[in-house]
Parts: sequence; structure tokens; C-alpha cells
Amino acid sequence: MKYCTRCLYPANHPLYLTFDDHGVCSGCRVHEEKDILNWEIRKKKLDKILESYRNKSGNSYDCIIPVRGGGDSYFVTHVITKIFKLNPLLVTYNHEYNTKTGIRNLANLLTVFDCDHINYTLDPEFVRRLVRHTFRKFASMYWHILAGTLTFPVQVAVKFKIPLIIWGVHGWSDQVGMFSHLDEVEMTEKARKEHSLMGIDARDIISEKDGVTRQDIQPFIYPFDEEIERVGVRGIYLSNYIRWDSKKQHERMIKLYGYETAKQQRTFNTYEDVDCFHSAGTHDYIKFIKYGYSKVSDHATREIRLKRMTREEGIEMVKKYSEKIPSDLPVFLKWSGIKRWKFFSYLDKWRDKRIWQKDKYGKWVLKDSVVNHIKDLNVSKVRLVKIEDCKFIITPSREPGEKEDKYILMGRGYIDKYNYKAVFDDQLAIQKNLKKTKRHISRLLEKDWGNFFIKDERTPKEMVFCKKCVMSSSKPGLYLNEDGICGACVSVEKKKLINWDKKKAELKQLCDKYRGSNGNGYDCLVPVSGGKDSMYQVWEMKKIYNMKVLAVCIVPHLQTSEGIANLNSLVKKLNVDLIKISLKPSVFKAIRRKTFVKLGNPNWADHASTFSGVARTAFMYQIPLIVWGEDIAVEFGGTTSKKRVASAKDIIKNDLILNRSVKDFYDDIIKPENTYFYKYPQDEDWDKRKIKSIYLGYYHNWNGYEHYLLAKKYGFQSRKLGCLSGNILNYDNIDEKLCEIHIWIKFLKYGFWRPTDQCCYHIWNGRMSREKAIRLVNAKQYEFPAEYYRDFLEFHGITEKQFWKIANKYRNRNIWHKVNGKWKLKYILK
Ligand SMILES: [Zn+2]
Ligand SMILES: [Zn+2]
Repeated sequence: MKYCTRCLYPANHPLYLTFDDHGVCSGCRVHEEKDILNWEIRKKKLDKILESYRNKSGNSYDCIIPVRGGGDSYFVTHVITKIFKLNPLLVTYNHEYNTKTGIRNLANLLTVFDCDHINYTLDPEFVRRLVRHTFRKFASMYWHILAGTLTFPVQVAVKFKIPLIIWGVHGWSDQVGMFSHLDEVEMTEKARKEHSLMGIDARDIISEKDGVTRQDIQPFIYPFDEEIERVGVRGIYLSNYIRWDSKKQHERMIKLYGYETAKQQRTFNTYEDVDCFHSAGTHDYIKFIKYGYSKVSDHATREIRLKRMTREEGIEMVKKYSEKIPSDLPVFLKWSGIKRWKFFSYLDKWRDKRIWQKDKYGKWVLKDSVVNHIKDLNVSKVRLVKIEDCKFIITPSREPGEKEDKYILMGRGYIDKYNYKAVFDDQLAIQKNLKKTKRHISRLLEKDWGNFFIKDERTPKEMVFCKKCVMSSSKPGLYLNEDGICGACVSVEKKKLINWDKKKAELKQLCDKYRGSNGNGYDCLVPVSGGKDSMYQVWEMKKIYNMKVLAVCIVPHLQTSEGIANLNSLVKKLNVDLIKISLKPSVFKAIRRKTFVKLGNPNWADHASTFSGVARTAFMYQIPLIVWGEDIAVEFGGTTSKKRVASAKDIIKNDLILNRSVKDFYDDIIKPENTYFYKYPQDEDWDKRKIKSIYLGYYHNWNGYEHYLLAKKYGFQSRKLGCLSGNILNYDNIDEKLCEIHIWIKFLKYGFWRPTDQCCYHIWNGRMSREKAIRLVNAKQYEFPAEYYRDFLEFHGITEKQFWKIANKYRNRNIWHKVNGKWKLKYILK
């Protein structure tokens, strides 16, 4: 085998190399441009390109950046947001071989770079089928990752009409010198297929035998030329405009943003592949079996060209790493269900016979290796002079001692001081300090914070309790009839008269109409949170009505570990695809803070972004049907409509939104261009797109407890440490941490909160007597939700004093008074 006289690359490099008269490869020659080109001029050129795209998209984002928890993601995002000050939409195709380090890196990236983000996760069972198929067919466990990573951003670009995609390094130029930097080569469908996907396109992998259908592979179908042209999508590589030095770039990212690195088993480069179990493990070993060289040659070659390693030092690295059997192989075999001997026998067919042969015992051995080419002719003639040392840093782990022993399908979305682990919470610490925190808070609760309280048209003057349940007339919009029975109880009675079989038939008809109506796309969209109800909704649409479901989750900023686990179970056990939308933290915080101060309603941003983000996604994907859960106005007797309706198009007008739009909160931080997911589509858009939005509660007798029982069968976990303060259920609203205090403020305004709501559920569904409910409410309602108190303060950046001053302003003096120095309700439930 011929090897480059300067680097370590062999002639059988799959991306094709040429050698010059001195035996130097095309990759090394193009690399020389890095020290010749005027990078200041190149950067100006980039500036010009970026400038022409600024705000051009008209829908708020300037460009798209594909990101993951490793690789060049930090650097690219840094360049685009901090140096060129563009407003990107970050996108991730979830490769599903995630390590905890990768999860933490991605969560940290979203937190520190403060951008909107979309993450696409495919049904892991399908991914498993697909990987088995691509492995058998062409010995690749990585095809879906390459295809997904290169397709999803382009799909999003077309759907969101964002014409510019920013990629990091153009690997083919950097490795083998396929193009000069001056060619300014861009990402195209042809390049994607020929260079990245080994000539194999999505349509080539449909297989009836392995259960990979045309509909399944939709996520890997590149948009049509006409769509690309209509939006004018182009994908540029930063490495054509910035002198690329991955090692130096990573070291800056470690310093500036706390990027985490990790030891790698088959290479000395600890920076790049930290997010994936297999990239530098089994996947790399497969490359070695195919071509007789592996990542360590790529990494050493790069360092040789950047004059940080001699060719001889590089060869030592190859000796040390290339033949190592990867320790992650058992994880892959177990997951994929491929037997070890089969794994090797499939691979044997793909050995490049130019480099592999069988010895007399029938064992595969390398015919040659760069190790045999240390002193080739011309090596000393073309040698680059080493100018610095090559040390790769291993950063301390954020979760020291944590084992990396299985894939994390999805983990935490953001991190902060208290919530920084890939999945787990420090709940035990919370529990341990709970008593102390409660004592501390009880003093603050009763302290004199002034006598002023904020009144509006919704501020109740009194509390009258329903004679059937324990709900109070102080609930906005709730009415009591002349018998003293509340609207919700009336609604419960009416529900008993509904012919549910007929409703079911209506739903079936609806599903029959929409099933398959969207070509190879999704039939319906189900908003999910990781709660029991969303699991039920997905289950019903998928298992009962056989719909192709896309689940959409607006990621809670402070997720609990149960919330994370439940979202994982939903996707894994109900086998659906999921889009996770993460919102720019600064804007989300600013809106929450503002609505907390101005309206005593910190969760407004959560509600607005859920309703709008879900609708936006349905519009983007042209999904004809959105399936919401219950209509709160009907089930709980709210204001908006007392009539039971199927259509959820007006969900944005419900009680949670308080007739406000995000425009009401615009300021220096909350701006039109960064509130895309808070804006609900207009009525005329709904008509134009012919998208239907429904409440499942209209067709199905809603029963939270039964949903809980069903969800449990699919892996739903209730709260491990039992009920939160003030709660009587351990399975309701347990997926995130910011909601509890929001609900508690309701207690100040209206005189009831969780215990009343939860007891009412039980009464309405015939599982609790009114007497028991009275006892429970009176015993529980004065508890303060101390568990996530410090999270709440920290998240909104407010002090305790500010918090209590604001909270006190919402304490409704019509219904509250002080008894023996303690705040008590004037109206006692009995
Ligand atoms: Zn070379
Ligand atoms: Zn009632």
C-alpha cells in the first residue's frame, strides 16, 4: 500500500487521494493553503455572505446551525452568535447513541448560547430496525446518523423558510483535499449522497424484509429541488472562510463555555466524539476493519499537518490505538440484537482486499500498515517542522463517577447551578433540606410585606363552596347555580348523559379521513409533556386509531428526572417520533418574570409557547390534525365557553392566556425576532392550511386516574419521593419544577390551589367523598411548595425579598385576613 510521505493516509482512503511526485497526498497539499491564504480577506467574505442573510428570512431567524453535544457545534455557534451576532435556529438530529457527556454538552450549549432549538428524535425501535438493516446491507451502524444529520437541517430550512445553513468543517477538503478552500464548496444533495452517504440514498434502504418502509424513511428524504430553490437554501462551510484548527477551537470553547471532553478508547483526541458511544469506538473499529486505518490516523494526520506532531509520533499513536477492540461493542450488540460472530462475519465481507488478507491459519491480517513506512523515500524531504506540542485536555466531569454504560435517548434540555446532571436530580438533597426550608419560609410568609394588593376585574370578593365538590366560587368564570352546585359539577352530570360510543364513532370517522391523507408525512400531531395524559393521548391515536403520530414537546426549562424518564418512556414504549422545541432561555425567563410581576402569573410563557409552538409545528409539517387533551373550560368550569366543542382552534383564548399576546410584553429582550414560538397562527392561516385542531376530551370520557393506570403500563413513573407539598397525588404535574409556585399563587388570589383541584378530580370521578375532600383540603392547603422554591428564585433572578413582596401584592384581602399573626382564609371549607 502506498502511504503519504507527509501524513499517515493510505492510497485506499475511501474519499480518494492523489499523490504528487514527492509522494505527498492531495490532502496535505490543500492543507498548505491554511498558511498561505489571507484569512482576514476570507473572513470579510464570510461577513458579506452572512450580512446578506441577516433578517432576510422574514420569520425571525437568520440561519440554521446543526448542533450536537460534541464536534464543532460550540465553535460554529460561537462564531455565528458572538462574532457575527446572527440569530440562528439550532437544530439537532438525535443520533440516539448519546452519552451523558454529550447530553450535558448539548444542554450547556443551549443554555450558554441562548438560542431556540429543535431536536428530532425518531422512534428508537425503528432506528434499531434500520441499523440492523444498514449493518447487514453495507456494514454501517452510522448511516442513519449521517443521513439524519445532513437531511433534517435542510428539511427545517425549507419548512421554516430559512435560506442559510451553517456547517463547520468541510471534511473532504480537510482530509483529502477534494477541493481548494477557494472553491468555496457548499452542501448539496449530490455532495451529501456521494461523499457522506457512501453513494447510498434513503430510497436505497427501503426493505420489506427488515421492516423499513417508504413512510419510515421520510426523515431521510432530501427536499425536492423546487422546494430548495423556492426558499433559496444554501449550506456553507465555515472552514472555507476561517482557518480551521479543531484542537485550538475546542480549547477556546472549554475555556469560554465549559465544553466537556472525555477520554476516548481508540484515539488520543479527547475533544470531538464525546457525545457518541460509538463514533470513536465500534463505528471507528468498523472503519479499521474495512480500510485498515481508523480515526487515530485522521486525528494524527491533522496534527502532523498543523505541525504539532511528527509523522513518527503519529505512527506511534496508530500502533497504540488502531487495533484495540472497542469496549462499547457489547452495548451495540445488545441493543441491536446482532450476535457477535455475525457482527464479525458481516464485516469480513467488507474488508478492503487491497489491505487485508488471510494468513495460513485463516486469520485476517493487514498486508501493510503505515507502521512499515516510517522511512519511505522523500519522508525527510517533505517533512514539516513541528512547532508546538500536542496535548489534549481531559476536563473534569460535571458528574464525577457517573457510569457511561447505556444510551441516553433524551436527557436534560438546559442546565443551571442546581440542575446540571444529564438525567438525575439531586432530589435527596432537596428532601433533606425540606424541613429547614419550610421553617425558613413560614417566617417569610407571615412577615409584614405591606398592605397593598393588586385588584382587577377577576379578583373575587368572596368564596362560596360548591355543595357537591369542594370548588370555590372564587375560581374565575365558575358559576354556582341556584342549588349551590358549580359549573364543573353540572358538566360532570351532563357528561354522564353523553353517548360516548357515538362520540367514539365520530372520532374514528375523523381519523379514517386523515389517516394517510398527508402522503408519507404524519397523520396527526400530539402535544406531549411527559405526563400521564399525554401518554394516553399518544396511545389512543397510535394504538386505537392507527395514526402516524408526531409528538411535540415544548421542553420545560427545569425538568425533573421523572419528567425526563417519562418522556423517554413515551417515545420508547409507544414508538413515536418526537420533536422537542427548546426556547431561548433569556426570552423565556424575561416573559416569565414580567408576567409574574405584572400578572402574578409566571407560567404564562409556558402556556403561550405550548399552544403556539404546537400549532406552528403542525403548520410547518402540514400535519392535518392536532390532538389536544382536555378542554379546561369544559372539564373544570372555566370562562371561555361552557359548551362542549370538538374544535381546539381557539385554545389560545382559554383562561390560561388571559387575553394577552406576546406583543404586550415586547421590550429590549422580548422582541419580534425571538418570539417565533409564542405567536399563534391567525384564523385565516388555519382556514388556508386546512389544519384541524381537536380536544380528545370531546370524544372520550376524560379520566386522569385511568390515564395514570394506562401510562403506568408503558413505564410512567410517579414522583419517587411521594407527593409534593400541598399535593394529594404523586402523579400529577410532576414533569417540571416551575409550575408549583405558579399554582400556589392561585391560592393567594382565589383561595384554593392543588389540594382543592386534586380532590375535585376525585369527587367528580366518584373516587372520593366530599367529607374526605374537606379534611384533606383543610389539612393540606396551607403547605407551601418549598421543594422548588430556590429553583424558582434562581431561575427568575429574584431575591427572596422581591419574591415575597410580589407574592404579597397578589394576596386577595377580600378573602384573606390575619389571625394571631398568621394568614388565614376568611372562608372555611365545611
Ligand atoms: Zn498526506
Ligand atoms: Zn362542584
